[in-house]
Amino acid sequence: MAEKSTSPAIGIDLGTTYSCVGVWRNNRVEIIANDQGNRTTPSYVAFKETERLVGDAAKNEATRNPSNTVFAAKRLIGRRYSDECVQTDKKLWPFKVIKGNDDRPSIIVDYQGEEKKFAAEEISAMILTKMRAVAEAFLGCTVRDAVVTVPAYFNDAQRQATKDAGVIAGLNVMRIMDEPTAAAVAYGFDTNDVNSSVKKNVLIFDLGGGTFDVSLISISKGVIEVKATAGDTHLGGEDFDNRMVNHLVEEFRRKQRKDISSNPRALRRLKTACEQAKRILSTTAQTAVNIDCLYEGTDFYSTITRARFEELNADLFKKCIQTVARCHEDAGIVKDNIDVVVLVGGSTRIPKIQQLLNNYFSGKKLCKSIHPDEAVAYGAAIHAAHLSGQGTKEIRNLVLIDVTPLSLGTDVSGDITHVIIPRNTPIPTQKSARYFTTCDFQSKVRIQVYEGERVRCKDNNLLGQFVLSGIHPAPRGETKIDVSFKIDSDGILHVSAEELVSSKKKQITLINREGRLSKEEIDRMVCEAERYRMEDEQFKKKVLAKNSLEGYTYSLRKLVKEDQVVSKVPGGYVKYIDEAVNNMMEWLKHDVPKDANVYNAKKKDLEEMSSTLSKMSLYGPVFGGRFSNFCDDHSETEEEDYSCGGHEDYDSDDY
Ligand code: AMP
Repeated sequence: MAEKSTSPAIGIDLGTTYSCVGVWRNNRVEIIANDQGNRTTPSYVAFKETERLVGDAAKNEATRNPSNTVFAAKRLIGRRYSDECVQTDKKLWPFKVIKGNDDRPSIIVDYQGEEKKFAAEEISAMILTKMRAVAEAFLGCTVRDAVVTVPAYFNDAQRQATKDAGVIAGLNVMRIMDEPTAAAVAYGFDTNDVNSSVKKNVLIFDLGGGTFDVSLISISKGVIEVKATAGDTHLGGEDFDNRMVNHLVEEFRRKQRKDISSNPRALRRLKTACEQAKRILSTTAQTAVNIDCLYEGTDFYSTITRARFEELNADLFKKCIQTVARCHEDAGIVKDNIDVVVLVGGSTRIPKIQQLLNNYFSGKKLCKSIHPDEAVAYGAAIHAAHLSGQGTKEIRNLVLIDVTPLSLGTDVSGDITHVIIPRNTPIPTQKSARYFTTCDFQSKVRIQVYEGERVRCKDNNLLGQFVLSGIHPAPRGETKIDVSFKIDSDGILHVSAEELVSSKKKQITLINREGRLSKEEIDRMVCEAERYRMEDEQFKKKVLAKNSLEGYTYSLRKLVKEDQVVSKVPGGYVKYIDEAVNNMMEWLKHDVPKDANVYNAKKKDLEEMSSTLSKMSLYGPVFGGRFSNFCDDHSETEEEDYSCGGHEDYDSDDY
């Protein structure tokens, strides 16, 4: 059992469209609200001339500054630029994605007046940093340890890349956890089924913003065991929105003879309206999509029915149900033996999805008792408590058994994949296979590692390759090579190979990190993330100082007009302060200083004036002070406080 750690470990659901963070505290999971009071935070990052925004503030920028507002980084993470999905998505995104090193996608934005390139890992790291900050603000202490969730169907590269994002965010990623497993943990603890001795087969149907997972999980006696998992890492609410966007772009073209498809701002506004319309269609049969001045001064007014929306997405909805069938068939569990179907992810609110599932399970009631947007973070928080030795006895004794979502193997001659670890094998696991040389006196052998279910290597995903050289020269078929695959608890693969001469180990080579960030790149990104964090902090300080000065100026302006002051303080001094206040307001309007100290120094000057003003209005003019030359008049003393000290500072989160 792990030792108790002092700073609590958190659970982060890093979503395509929204992220959520939870922590185990006071004997329960708290889902933590962000600085806006929202329990989920948009997975958006906006880059501006002067600052970088993450979360709600960034999403608000999306229509104003579309080309510099990045979202859906989860759809890029761990993928190659040449990937078909990246090429399709890129066409609908208002921000620019180009081909980077090693065929990795690179996101291009203007930030602080310069063109900057970011990897998807860096954008995800910014969101993770934000979620960490949300937790730290709530807990009042530094957080380092976290469990981060990924779709069960994420492949090796996507998992590795998510882990790298955690490192860039300065987190110690204790575990990469599958989202449906996290939801099953939430369900098990919510219903107390986890403590029951009666085994329950639970099907988790998790359809979010960008990914889709189905897992069949058995729960009993403190053990949560994944039997099979299936899914699509490129299917979710974003796709449903995009179908509606394409449909309305066509409608606009037809009605107005204008093409908005190459205008990022118009597309972004239409996409926002479509997402809204989709949500409304979950409760009504028809809704309007109205956007003033959508393109070249032309308004767009249209209506869309639920039936039309369902028709536009019919094939995608059907795909979801086919995936459910594949999952329980893989687990060898018939439909009737599934005790409960649990809905997770915002897109499960779509009535058609619920209806199709209901039909497939012959009218079985779907479980909606756990919060679809928070269940994953809830389960991750429980797992984080478990890994750090916190929580109740049930949590500390919890046993989670996950599976690998895709088959893993190597190439054998003839472009055939030889599977070493079949899909749905419980993890962690280690398996090996023995190969023989195919040429006489062969001195090296190339080992290529693939994942996927297809027979031919070229149809599967090449994870990486390496060459084992200097092998014992011998006639073909005599030299034996053992290739060993090990999947750790994060679902990440490690490969080694050794040549056996008289059963002696000769060489071991670990798989290279093809298509992934190198150690040097990660180190550079860690430094940059720290620099951006400092810049954000400086900016925040500057805004707070400016707000404070502005607030003080307003209260001084109010004070100087008060009857009591006007009647008691010499007119020259009142005029002097009035002028100073007006100058300050003008300066605030036009000046953009670099440092918070500039504002603080100016505020100090005003404070001094205010204090003199207060004293004068109480005791009459004070001679000998810095402002005594204005004291041409004597006022009566009164026991009243006119200090400006009671001005309102802007709340630190309001800027
Ligand atoms: P998640 O990744 O689980 O946060 O799910 C986010 C996705 O759920 C987004 O695509 C949302 O548009 C979608 N969503 C949220 N609420 C609804 C709703 N009432 N009807 C349809 N889709 C929704």
